[in-house]
Amino acid sequence: MKNNISVFSFLKEFPNEDTCEKWIMNARWPRGVFCPFCSNYRIYRLENQKRFKCAGCRKQFTVRTGSVLAESKVPLQKWLMTTWILTSHTKGISSVQLSKTLGVTQKTAWFLAHRIREAFSEGNGGLFTGTVEVDETYVGGKNKNRHKNKKVENSQGRSTKDKTAVIGIKQRDGRVKVMPVNDTTSKTIHKLINKTVAQGAIVCTDEYRSYNGLKNYTHLRVNHSGGQYVDGIANTNSIESFWSLFKRGFIGVYHQMSPAHLFRYVDEFSFRHNLTKLTCVEIMNRVFYNTNAKRLTYKQLTNASS
Ligand SMILES: [Zn+2]
Repeated sequence: MKNNISVFSFLKEFPNEDTCEKWIMNARWPRGVFCPFCSNYRIYRLENQKRFKCAGCRKQFTVRTGSVLAESKVPLQKWLMTTWILTSHTKGISSVQLSKTLGVTQKTAWFLAHRIREAFSEGNGGLFTGTVEVDETYVGGKNKNRHKNKKVENSQGRSTKDKTAVIGIKQRDGRVKVMPVNDTTSKTIHKLINKTVAQGAIVCTDEYRSYNGLKNYTHLRVNHSGGQYVDGIANTNSIESFWSLFKRGFIGVYHQMSPAHLFRYVDEFSFRHNLTKLTCVEIMNRVFYNTNAKRLTYKQLTNASS
């Protein structure tokens, strides 16, 4: 990301609720405010209030309605500050740290951050072309840290018995798409590659057997077990450097990512990676544009955890 802003500039840019409201309004509705219920652009502002009224369906709404901010009582300035922190901290921020920074409870910080991550998820934005690297990693489950009677048997290496597999597909020098998966069979991996990578592209992988038989691509493989990491263009260095940042965030900041919420953390890291060419404020703008029509209730979040 370019042009990160300091906490001083942030407070100068977003000094109070009125400024934040106006900023979010422009980010959510860059072509003018429209009704979140019926998409009508004929709306008017109720005098002396932070509410709009739709001339079509007559319903009232605010800058929060019909987005992940709906029903939240957290001040808009804290929403914006969390977005700024999440988009500018390359390894993310824990809910404990965030709660201290914002002066809210950890529960509020946790819920707030997850709703912003919801707005990090984006459409796939076109198929990957050129040279594309594919690799998997495994999150969670470290037997060596477990008490003897809690150790999971036969869970070493690529086993998904106590770990979640995550597939990463990265256009070299370009975007990354990362997805947690239930298994790493050929069927699952090939399907994801076919959905993400344009036919005719060069696909680089390691020698894992699930990549065998990949059709419609020029498939180049790196033999990691034989100590060979870079063989001309046949390497997976680019996706591996993404994994290394992701793992530093996992180990150093989040400590654990529950399998139910793993996809949100994965979205957080990919979102930051894919928008590195934008400025901090442009990225925040994108997040609030993405909040349109997104909802995530506390119940949905906590039901997913149980
Ligand atoms: Zn309406």
